[in-house]
Amino acid sequence: MAVSATGAPAVCRFHAGGAWRASSAREHVDVYNPATGVVIARVPLCTRAEVDQAVEAAHAAFLEWRKVPPLVRARYLFRYRDLLERHKDELARLITTEHGKTLEDAHGSVQRGLEVVEFACGIPTLLMGETLEQVSHGVDCHTIRQPIGVAVGITPFNFPAMVPLWMLPLAIACGNTFVFKPSEKMPLTATRLVELLHETGLPAGVVSLVHGTAPQVEQLIDHPLVRAVSIVGSSAAAAGVYARAAARGKRVQALGGAKNHLVVMPDADLDQAVPAIVGSAFGSAGERCMAGSVVVAVAPAGDALVERLRARAAALAMAPGDAPGAELGPLVTAAHRDRVAQYLTVGADEGATLVLDGRTRAEGPGFFLGASIFDRARPDMRIAREEIFGPVLTVIRVESLAAALAVVNQSALGNAASIFTRDGGAARTFTTEVEAGMIGVNVGVPVPMAMFPFAGWKGSFFGDLHATGKDGVRFYTEQKVITTRY
Ligand code: NAD
Repeated sequence: MAVSATGAPAVCRFHAGGAWRASSAREHVDVYNPATGVVIARVPLCTRAEVDQAVEAAHAAFLEWRKVPPLVRARYLFRYRDLLERHKDELARLITTEHGKTLEDAHGSVQRGLEVVEFACGIPTLLMGETLEQVSHGVDCHTIRQPIGVAVGITPFNFPAMVPLWMLPLAIACGNTFVFKPSEKMPLTATRLVELLHETGLPAGVVSLVHGTAPQVEQLIDHPLVRAVSIVGSSAAAAGVYARAAARGKRVQALGGAKNHLVVMPDADLDQAVPAIVGSAFGSAGERCMAGSVVVAVAPAGDALVERLRARAAALAMAPGDAPGAELGPLVTAAHRDRVAQYLTVGADEGATLVLDGRTRAEGPGFFLGASIFDRARPDMRIAREEIFGPVLTVIRVESLAAALAVVNQSALGNAASIFTRDGGAARTFTTEVEAGMIGVNVGVPVPMAMFPFAGWKGSFFGDLHATGKDGVRFYTEQKVITTRY
């Protein structure tokens, strides 16, 4: 826990030009332990001079870092991978402290981030180009991939280690330098990630860390030395960043919000589907872009399914994330808990049936809210359309797979979607026709592994090249084609 000499919550530092620095910012944001409601740190909203300092140092570092052989760049990442492995418990505890999710969820998220570092260790192979001899008489042709320059990464509160690690390892492995602007709600894990990175001996300026909110992000996007921008956040923030960065000719990938559907066919194995759906909807207290938010039950699956979901969700152990056996931790802030709880009123007013009301288990002084389930919702209701980002699951009942697909595909968002069935034909129809980026078959949370691209469709993603996998390498490089005759 960050505490200053006076006993007050410590103010986080920023990192620029290879050194940790105290910000001279006048404005700060409080950081909470959501399980206790206590302020544990304060984040400075970095000044314009501090943001410029980080970008200029990143650009100066880029001029040398780009010349470092990919094999040597990879060795820093091998060392980083070992450090992350050794500090996994510490990082998971930090995540639980500032985010609230259970230690098990926190561990899993560090592991998934670490796997991107492992993927980036293969950069010498990933960067290789293509060659064709004799494209004409005595003429050969080959491609090379070169780094772009200073890349910026803007990350959300819900995965304080994993999402930055979607970006940072590939950005620097490709020869770019990276300015990291973490969520203002989660500075502690971000700080530790950057501290550990510098224990690898990484040259000064290759990775910097600045704090702030929208004004600092806008300054980063507008800075002429910034060439690429990645953001993961709500669709409103992602769309705004995409438009601003694209208008300035920057490369941009902008991953937005989600409203993920889980279709349950009548032949689904409920012993498998129910735990998968409850884990998907209520894991990390529903604060996941891959969370299942709407179950579409195809008749006659409805009654048995809803009863089993209700019983299992009601039994989830709600407790601070570091308590033994905890399954449902608190929400990130009091304001967010209240916003999520408000949807329970909205859904009931819209006419859905609240079969499990998490408000009966809301506890303080932490930001706890129990699991909630609505049954017999309609697709046009707000609870079925809007991202709630909390432990609320909405069930819509339909008569056929075609009707289920129509419900899923009318969503404005398309991050992920899953089907539960034993029928290969139904699964194939679903995976072919569904309009979303990441699809599961009998999988509640279909998160692609590091070697695959990660992003949604429609209002869940703005850009072309997704995060991680070969798309990640393409995003962080420019391609050149060289035609040669001697
Ligand atoms: P958020 O949009 O409030 O903030 C995300 C980041 O953007 C933060 O660093 C924040 O400081 C910055 N930001 C906020 N408003 C901005 C603006 N107007 N202009 C520029 N920058 C701005 O999101 P959050 O509440 O931290 O995170 C939760 C959201 O992130 C959810 O919508 C969730 O679905 C989404 N998310 C998406 C993915 C994905 O892969 N698509 C992954 C994780 C989270």
